[in-house]
Amino acid sequence: MPPETAITKGLRTYGAFIDGTDVPTDSSSERRNPATGELVARFAAGDEAMTDRAIAAARREFDRGPWPRLSGADRAAALRRLAALLQRDAELLATIEAEEVGKPIRLARGDVAGSIALTEYAASLALTQHGAVYSNLGEDFTGLVTREPCGVVGMITPWNFPLLLLMQKLPFALAAGCTAVCKPSEITSGTTLEVARLAIEAGIPAGVFNVVTGRGSVVGERIAASFEVDMLSFTGSTAVGAAITRASAASCKRLSMELGGKAASIVFPDADLEDAVDGVLKGVLFNNGECCVSGARLLVHEDVAEDFLRALARRVAEIRVGTPLDEAADVGAMIHEDHLEQVLRYIDGAVADGAQIVSGGNRLTDGALGDGYFVAPTIIDRVRPASALFTEEVFGPVLAVTRFATLAEAVELANAVDFGLANSVWSKNIDTALQVSRRLRSGTVWVNTTIDGAPQLPGGGVKRSGYGREMGAAGFEEFTEVKTIQIRTGKRDPFFVQ
Ligand code: NAD
Repeated sequence: MPPETAITKGLRTYGAFIDGTDVPTDSSSERRNPATGELVARFAAGDEAMTDRAIAAARREFDRGPWPRLSGADRAAALRRLAALLQRDAELLATIEAEEVGKPIRLARGDVAGSIALTEYAASLALTQHGAVYSNLGEDFTGLVTREPCGVVGMITPWNFPLLLLMQKLPFALAAGCTAVCKPSEITSGTTLEVARLAIEAGIPAGVFNVVTGRGSVVGERIAASFEVDMLSFTGSTAVGAAITRASAASCKRLSMELGGKAASIVFPDADLEDAVDGVLKGVLFNNGECCVSGARLLVHEDVAEDFLRALARRVAEIRVGTPLDEAADVGAMIHEDHLEQVLRYIDGAVADGAQIVSGGNRLTDGALGDGYFVAPTIIDRVRPASALFTEEVFGPVLAVTRFATLAEAVELANAVDFGLANSVWSKNIDTALQVSRRLRSGTVWVNTTIDGAPQLPGGGVKRSGYGREMGAAGFEEFTEVKTIQIRTGKRDPFFVQ
């Protein structure tokens, strides 16, 4: 357990974090726990001037500071120290995450463990990734292809996994030798600011990682438009991703876009149906359904659909919805009241389109849930592919069920959305599993598993889910520029005839 600090007792108040120092502002915003209404954090409302100050610190450290110039071994050592500090403060970080997001503490602990694993893996990449030498161009001609840090990286992150999604970017960028300015979601900034504090404690120089909290239209747009920022790594909605692309256009900066999703779980009759029931429910209920890779659609073969839906309904009745610090909770609250209402509107819209509610479909207000923003885990059958519940990102614990008759139809339905982040296939037949996996248009396909992963495995989207990859060696390469150094030795053959 971490030492008892002022931070663990009730309200936490943060400034921005620039150049290794907490920077207070005159104006701030408040965050209430969406499950209990309790005031849990107060964040600085950053402005353009503060954002410029953070960018200037990161720029200075990149252009003149030691960090980009250290050996990979030294950067790896600092990242390993950061991983150890994340471990030391794990329970504090999990508590902050659970209270700000409204997610169950067990899941928040998983996010912290994942963040530690990512940081340790990024340290190994700092140590092992290197450029190439071309020695086969002739004895007098040698080519060096080096990988250089791409510069000052802007990072803009959403509210659903504030820590984990930051750590899919930050340790990889730091491993490459970049410096960074992050704007976390204005409602869940706590763990990002804690990481900034820990980075200093780990010996990462002041100014290498800076955080400015505040509104996307102020701080985020300033980072996107800045000519002093070389790359922007964004995770969030497709609409904001497009706005950021426009704001960044004049600066020609490099972009990485991790955007929305609408994953399908595709269940074939030859699946292990018991496993599939658990997996389909994990897919849609993980993180309250507020997950870019949520398996929000179930495509189920018509031969097993009735039995499968009965089994899902039995199992979903046992799922525990609870407040964030309830150790037994599987599913928590929606992020805020507007979002709760939007999720309920999607449910009503699907019913108006002719779909049938199998379970849930309503807000939960019983007992300890009180006035929290809870939606009952919901299963809706016979959702038509034209329905908004099928095509749009709902971001709630709502499973849209559609039946199919053939493998080709399953693939067509899965691909019939604008998004392409992830999908899951449930079949024990290797031909079915592999044929479907190859035809799905998504950055990730899970076979007989879902919302799975390892730091070594890259993730990212196609279509309107964005571009660029995070994690894995590819996630490190995103933060590097390839430079070619071409060297001739000896006396040159003249280009101009004498
Ligand atoms: P959002 O797009 O509303 O906000 C994301 C971030 O962008 C926030 O920090 C926000 O303040 C900032 N922002 C808002 N307007 C901005 C602007 N004009 N310029 C610059 N920055 C701006 O997303 P959200 O509601 O916080 O999170 C949910 C969304 O994130 C969902 O669409 C989800 O699919 C997506 N997401 C994607 C992934 C992925 O890996 N692909 C992962 C998690 C979440």
